[in-house]
Amino acid sequence: MSIKQQYIDGKWVGANSGNTRDIINPFNQEVIATVPEGDQTDAKAAIAAARAAFDSGEWSSTPATERGHIVRKIAELIERDKEELARLESLDTGKTVEESRGDMDDIAGVFRHYSELADKDGGELIDSPVPNSISKVVREPVGVCGQITPWNYPLLQASWKLAPALATGNTLIMKPSEITPLTTIKVFELMEEAGVPVGVANLVLGAGHTVGAELSSNIDVDLISFTGGIVTGKKIMQAASVNVKKLALELGGKNPNIIFADADFETAVDQALNGVFFHAGQICSAGTRLIVEESIHDKFVNSLVERVKKFKLGNGFDEDTQMGPLISAEHLAKVEKYVEMGIEEGATLAVGGSRPEDPELQNGFFYLPTIFTDCTTDMNIVQDEAFGPVITVEKFRTEEEAVKLANDSIYGLAGGVWTSDIVKAERCVAKMRMGTVWINEFNLYFPHAPWGGFKQSGIGRELGKQGIEEYTETKHIMHNLKPEPINWF
Ligand code: NAD
Repeated sequence: MSIKQQYIDGKWVGANSGNTRDIINPFNQEVIATVPEGDQTDAKAAIAAARAAFDSGEWSSTPATERGHIVRKIAELIERDKEELARLESLDTGKTVEESRGDMDDIAGVFRHYSELADKDGGELIDSPVPNSISKVVREPVGVCGQITPWNYPLLQASWKLAPALATGNTLIMKPSEITPLTTIKVFELMEEAGVPVGVANLVLGAGHTVGAELSSNIDVDLISFTGGIVTGKKIMQAASVNVKKLALELGGKNPNIIFADADFETAVDQALNGVFFHAGQICSAGTRLIVEESIHDKFVNSLVERVKKFKLGNGFDEDTQMGPLISAEHLAKVEKYVEMGIEEGATLAVGGSRPEDPELQNGFFYLPTIFTDCTTDMNIVQDEAFGPVITVEKFRTEEEAVKLANDSIYGLAGGVWTSDIVKAERCVAKMRMGTVWINEFNLYFPHAPWGGFKQSGIGRELGKQGIEEYTETKHIMHNLKPEPINWF
């Protein structure tokens, strides 16, 4: 396919500076595309277009049903081009094509979900204390939205932002991760085809410290919605204070997965592996902190290790590949350093802990699935997000201890409990301080359930009907039908 460029005010344009960036396949480091490298100037042009489009009132006053139709059309076009999009996502991220196909189904589902919600909130009448008056509460679009996404689920994360923003009548500027922009570019083509009006949705490519920083600090942006790391999230919060922007932050996680001895053993082993090593651990909700009841700890770890040794690492385009590479050389170096830290801290390396020796994998950013045992909460590897294929295992004796260990984190994105005792499970999840908790499940999400974090995992919620709330302001309209003088003054 021909890769187009940035999309600003309804035109496909290169970077104002003329600069470009090569996009690399993490499996073999081949250049798969060259895209414009925008900067503050491009971001400012896109913000001006989005501002003018919003201030014209055309999109926000388009009937919500009609906006919903356009959002549904985007879903249909994604379904039409699913295979092309899935292959592009795998080229760009290294993940298996099977995973990417699943992502595309989910993405179409997100656009469908918001197309259906677009016209469902007609406001609410509330009781008014004044006779002969009407009080109603309505939701209106926030305005111009800056949207910044990470590289791990490039198009999925973009869809969580694009679909509700469009459905609710906002205008937007999207900045995808500079290393994985390809599927987002393609979806902007589909949005144009679906009939999103000129200026409503703009796409700027480029780095975080240039384009992202401009979106975060520009006074004409009303809301910034960011998914990414906690360090960047804090910078964005600071920058956004310039005009008290509304903020939606989806940050990192260090997610506990509690395994009780009475859980179905084989299922818990299987799902514990899936909960971490899917997409090579590059998932914000990965269950990287395994918390295992002492009586089954050794048997559980042995089963994990045996299974991990058989993982097939390779090209995401090969049918038998189970795990692809990490996203970049820089990220691989970060994961290597994290594992070194675990060894220095005294954790026991049960399996992995290095790059694979397979000659066919040497050009890719591969890292072996890794398990550390004898971990304690005071270790940095138990507290810090590795965002790679690394598990830390802690032991517990009592239910209270398990919950305490699970909550001992600055993060609060997600967590899981495995047990056959449903009362115990409900007791545990009620005390777990996370935005999503699973019982006998891990990592499952769907568009009608809200997603977001407690504590330092973020602010606000995406998906669900909460995603609509994120992109709307609440307005109270009080209408006195029979005004009379008060005669106070
Ligand atoms: P990152 O924070 O490095 O980058 C994310 C985005 O922010 C990129 O588009 C980047 O260009 C941009 N950016 C960087 N510096 C910026 C700045 N100063 N101002 C504005 N924008 C800036 O994160 P990443 O490495 O791309 O992604 C991994 C992180 O994302 C992990 O911490 C992961 O947990 C998190 N994540 C969270 C969720 C969630 O739903 N909570 C989902 C996916 C990923």
